[in-house]
Amino acid sequence: DDNAAAAKPACFSSVIPGWFSEMSPMWPGEAHSLKVEKVLFQGKSDYQDVIVFQSATYGKVLVLDGVIQLTERDECAYQEMITHLPLCSIPNPKKVLVIGGGDGGVLREVARHPSVEHIDMCEIDKMVVDVSKQFFPNVAIGFEDPRVNLVIGDGVAFLKNAAQGSYDAVIVDSSDPIGPAKELFEKPFFQSVARALRPGGVVCTQAESLWLHMDIIEDIVSNCRDIFKGSVNYAWTSVPTYPRHWGYWIYALSSKSNGPLKFYNSEIHSAAFCLPSFATKVIESK
Ligand code: SAM
Repeated sequence: DDNAAAAKPACFSSVIPGWFSEMSPMWPGEAHSLKVEKVLFQGKSDYQDVIVFQSATYGKVLVLDGVIQLTERDECAYQEMITHLPLCSIPNPKKVLVIGGGDGGVLREVARHPSVEHIDMCEIDKMVVDVSKQFFPNVAIGFEDPRVNLVIGDGVAFLKNAAQGSYDAVIVDSSDPIGPAKELFEKPFFQSVARALRPGGVVCTQAESLWLHMDIIEDIVSNCRDIFKGSVNYAWTSVPTYPRHWGYWIYALSSKSNGPLKFYNSEIHSAAFCLPSFATKVIESK
């Protein structure tokens, strides 16, 4: 493709010409590739490189620092699960905080919960929000909900200043722990989350892959077991374009069904906590 060839950022054509290859020190030795039809946007924000391209088979794709954040085809599996797992675990969540999530997809899902009265979102990079509004209207639709209060800033600082016990649920929809999201994986951050949650509140965070990042998952689980007095669990989903999944940390767990969604249902909710034996062994030992 001429357009892709002309653009030539590092993640294009280094494996197969005309394709995007996702390479990262987070998954050394592997590179998931998608055929590029057209590069739609390339920019550099204060925090990261931002690319949007039209892929041959997954619709439009958002890439930050060379790493896929979402594709139109499979984003539902991520957004629905990271949102409804926590929000269906507590009765009538009213005040919700989203950290990261600049594409708006988690907001779209939070907005489906009629009990929710207020949604704060703190995303560090305004360019992600703007690009999503321009290229991913079905995802960025979440920003249109009148309950949303968008703050552009660092999620770590936002949580430090949040009023104690003020949120029913916190959803951390972060990128990987290299770059601006690094601190979102560290113990002090989870301590601030615990402070900002009301008793019985719930937090759900993107916690990478069972196959690749057991060391990261172990650290998060053990930090959260120290900090949160209720239950701490790890749940997973299947997103074909992610080499990673996320973890799920809660104070209290109960489940209820929720509307006609594409991916999430109550059976998937339960099944997401069924883990391979190697993961159960590590997580239960923490
Ligand atoms: N679903 C995605 C995934 O797992 O690949 C994550 C998508 S979302 C676009 C991740 C967002 O987290 C990015 O927009 C990034 O700018 C934001 N982010 C990273 N570090 C942050 C921080 N310290 N505070 C707030 N937002 C942050």
